[in-house]
Amino acid sequence: MENKNRAAQLLPQLDFENIQKFAQTQQTPLLIIDLDRINAAYDRLVSSMPGTRIFYAIKACPMDEVITSIAKRGSNFDVASRPEIEQLLALGITGEKISYGNPIKKRADIAFAFTHGVTLYTSDSEEDLINLAECAPGAKVNFRIILDGKGADWPLSRKFGCHPGMAFRLAVKAKELGLVPYGIAFHVGSQQRDIGQWDTALAQVKHLFDALLHEKDIALKCINIGGGFPAEYLKPTQTQEEYGSSVMQYLREDFKIDDLDIIVEPGRSLAGDAGVLCTEVVRISKKSNNDPVRWLFLDIGRFGGLAETEGEAIRYPIYFPDHAHESGEDWGDVIIAGPTCDSADIMYQKDLYAAPASLKEGDRIYLLSTGAYTASYAAVNFNGFAPLRTAILPK
Ligand SMILES: *Cc1c(COP(=O)(O)O)cnc(C)c1O
Repeated sequence: MENKNRAAQLLPQLDFENIQKFAQTQQTPLLIIDLDRINAAYDRLVSSMPGTRIFYAIKACPMDEVITSIAKRGSNFDVASRPEIEQLLALGITGEKISYGNPIKKRADIAFAFTHGVTLYTSDSEEDLINLAECAPGAKVNFRIILDGKGADWPLSRKFGCHPGMAFRLAVKAKELGLVPYGIAFHVGSQQRDIGQWDTALAQVKHLFDALLHEKDIALKCINIGGGFPAEYLKPTQTQEEYGSSVMQYLREDFKIDDLDIIVEPGRSLAGDAGVLCTEVVRISKKSNNDPVRWLFLDIGRFGGLAETEGEAIRYPIYFPDHAHESGEDWGDVIIAGPTCDSADIMYQKDLYAAPASLKEGDRIYLLSTGAYTASYAAVNFNGFAPLRTAILPK
């Protein structure tokens, strides 16, 4: 009943009556984004981490309305590719509000970014640094260090970053190449449940700051503490206020932060809780008559936007509709799967959810906290299923 209780706990925070009313006029599956919730999450982050600069990682939910809404509140943006930069430019967001945070980028894309006023980049290799020096001369560079992602539901692990010794050498090299060695970046892993991971990372940053200053006379100016702040999934986490105040304290213990540019790159924590995904039951059935577990097939699955259910890493709270809530009704275990003919298209089969006994074909159910990494992960049209449609909740 973990799911039933969690959904009941989260529902009052949502404009749910309005969401349900709007969803009734729409086809499923549909991701509905409530901009008020994004704005509120943005404001909470600002007040929990005063003095920092926020760069929204737009890949989490790249809808124009989301970007425009927080741009009005002063947000900057973290991008990973040229099309993301083009999207921001088309929305009137200028290069100085953009950080090119992907260490893996083509020369032509660096040149494009630089031509459009992007002067802040993240790097983790000498190869990238040489490209930056040629295509974005004089740019500011943050060096990303590698972390293990321990404690995170969606660890980013070993793909990005370099070991601190290499970050040190890259900073020296950047200066030689005429770039500005600006700071150190890291990402503790997405949906990070252990706030102490920021402390561990900052200890490494401190070490690098000191070593570069004393041995090479390079004074770094920036700490990019990445993303990793949580959304509200099945298992509760601490609040943004608790995350923010702890990380600020770790920062103050090691650094004179008033003199530094502290960058935060939230994705999930801004967009996640603002999304509700309305989906329809395509089939609910059993594999044999005496099987205690039912199979619940939804019209959305792994390829339609629920990619983060891989390994059951992200566990969305699921709300079953009112008529399934008659008192005293039995709830039973279900395996939850998507509509395609791919056997990998199963969301939850190890750690089972419970669903009402009366649940039937055609019922609509609601996946909560689905604003981040859903629509942006949907396949183009695998098996003929359209990509996840999105809508802004009308007010
Ligand atoms: C994806 C990403 C983020 C956002 O991470 P969340 O855990 O969603 O907050 C931040 N920074 C970089 C460089 C990223 O790639």
